[in-house]
Amino acid sequence: MGYKQISLKLPTDFSSELLEKKIRKELHLENFSYQIENKSLDARKKSYIHWVVKVAVTSEDIKGDKPEQLSELKIDYRKRDEKVLVIGSGPAGFFAAYALQKAGFKTTIIERGSDVSKRAEGISHFEKTGKFDSVSNYSFGEGGAGTFSDGKLTSRSKHISQERKYILSSYVKAGAPKEIEYMAHPHVGSDNLKIIVKNLREEFKNLGGEILFETLLEDLKVKEGKVKSAITNKGIIESDLVLIAPGHSAFETYRMLIKQGVQFRTKNFALGSRIEHPQEIINQAQWGHKQLPGVKAAEYRLTSNIDGKLPVYTFCMCPGGIVVPAAAYKDINIVNGMSLYQRNAKFANAACVAGVNLEKLVGKEISALEALDWLENLEKSFYNYSDGFKAPYCSIQDFMNKKTPSRNAESSYPLGLLPAPLWELLPEEVSTSIRESLKEFSRKIRGFETGNIMGLESKTSAPIQVLREKNGLCTGFKNLYLIGEGSGYAGGIISSAADGLKAAMSIILN
Ligand SMILES: Cc1cc2nc3c(=O)[nH]c(=O)nc-3n(C[C@H](O)[C@H](O)[C@H](O)COP(=O)(O)OP(=O)(O)OC[C@H]3O[C@@H](n4cnc5c(N)ncnc54)[C@H](O)[C@@H]3O)c2cc1C
Repeated sequence: MGYKQISLKLPTDFSSELLEKKIRKELHLENFSYQIENKSLDARKKSYIHWVVKVAVTSEDIKGDKPEQLSELKIDYRKRDEKVLVIGSGPAGFFAAYALQKAGFKTTIIERGSDVSKRAEGISHFEKTGKFDSVSNYSFGEGGAGTFSDGKLTSRSKHISQERKYILSSYVKAGAPKEIEYMAHPHVGSDNLKIIVKNLREEFKNLGGEILFETLLEDLKVKEGKVKSAITNKGIIESDLVLIAPGHSAFETYRMLIKQGVQFRTKNFALGSRIEHPQEIINQAQWGHKQLPGVKAAEYRLTSNIDGKLPVYTFCMCPGGIVVPAAAYKDINIVNGMSLYQRNAKFANAACVAGVNLEKLVGKEISALEALDWLENLEKSFYNYSDGFKAPYCSIQDFMNKKTPSRNAESSYPLGLLPAPLWELLPEEVSTSIRESLKEFSRKIRGFETGNIMGLESKTSAPIQVLREKNGLCTGFKNLYLIGEGSGYAGGIISSAADGLKAAMSIILN
């Protein structure tokens, strides 16, 4: 059996019959099988927008060997006696626990939030009433911040190919569409994620793993660099190994870790707001059409580097999505974005953030604890300004001209907008840099200035990073790992899950 990889240009609404016809013609074959290996949209020329599809074709009638495939991440089972406690059921905690349970460890996950069904109810109630639920919100609960997200599964992290393949194939086995394994910009959507998270949990439990919801890690008992037990709101749990995957929203968990001697340094991160446009404006600007058959909704990614200003970029774009109130606590007000698999909602949104070095921004050296205090105060200041969860907003045009809006605007944000001089609520250097960049972006995307800009976007990545050893252990500790986004070494679903898997593999192979 021979193998050949070919690249084909296909119309946006191509059918499998057309794809097969093209393969037949290109390779002069009658009998073959094929697999799509990559599919990306080429929208550089509006008059010729097409998919570029890479297919691997196998047939008796072609010559050529299959290139060496990326080896599978192998997790061998053996009977082990050690107990492992994982804190947090987000992508990092879950995938670490899943691998460790598969390898034979007795693994327990504790999660401060509720299971995904109860969590969905809590979020829906919050969006209807404005009443915040501390165990069921966009940040805390089963599946972590990754569950009610856009479910973009892209990652720019290097050296995680094996882990990425493992994560994507686990998602597919748990119900994700197969295409996430080959799309250049894989996207799974919040509707699918709720099902995937539940199915993965059931598989973890079938393997013998235990998961305890609404169980909050409050403190650790540490002796001579070894964590002896975890103190939770439901009692004490003893464990041989402890992996903490708290994400980067749990302020009190970070503070407890610092108090226990876990060492952190400050790191660069990004701050800004969320921008929103009718999706049709983005489609028209990017494609020259309001719709394109075979493609859900147009995307954009904008960057700007103006001399003397902070770098500004758009991030976490959610075509056909909604802006969500992503608060993790009852007295903070922040926004984020999500979408369903079909990406067919009316608006497109994206974070528009400036990269910051907090020490430069505040003009002095600061500790990790001070960085957390600073960020928490900023998030609280938005809550105080709105006296709740309305998102302070203005139009992009008004932000550029520093003109306070007088009327409300249509938006996907469920808890309402509050006309505000948003630029005054952000740190001055951040808002000046964003203002100049918005002018640049308005020259790049037709109609961009007609959109709105709202809320505080402060969770693109953690403001602090843990000190850890090559084997993943927290510096100064013999059995404690801090993994995922909260560690400061990962950001996003895939890189956080990969970070969790790497820690698990280092334990398994030790
Ligand atoms: C609305 C939204 C949309 C997003 N969209 C995308 C996207 O499209 N693509 C993408 O790649 N990323 C997206 N992200 C970011 C992504 O969700 C995170 O990067 C990722 O989930 C981080 O994984 P994690 O496991 O490290 O932490 P998290 O997912 O944050 O999980 C941490 C978990 O730990 C629990 N926890 C914290 N402290 C404790 C404690 N003391 N005791 C017990 N449990 C605790 C929390 O409840 C939480 O469930 C989005 C985030 C949000 C909020």
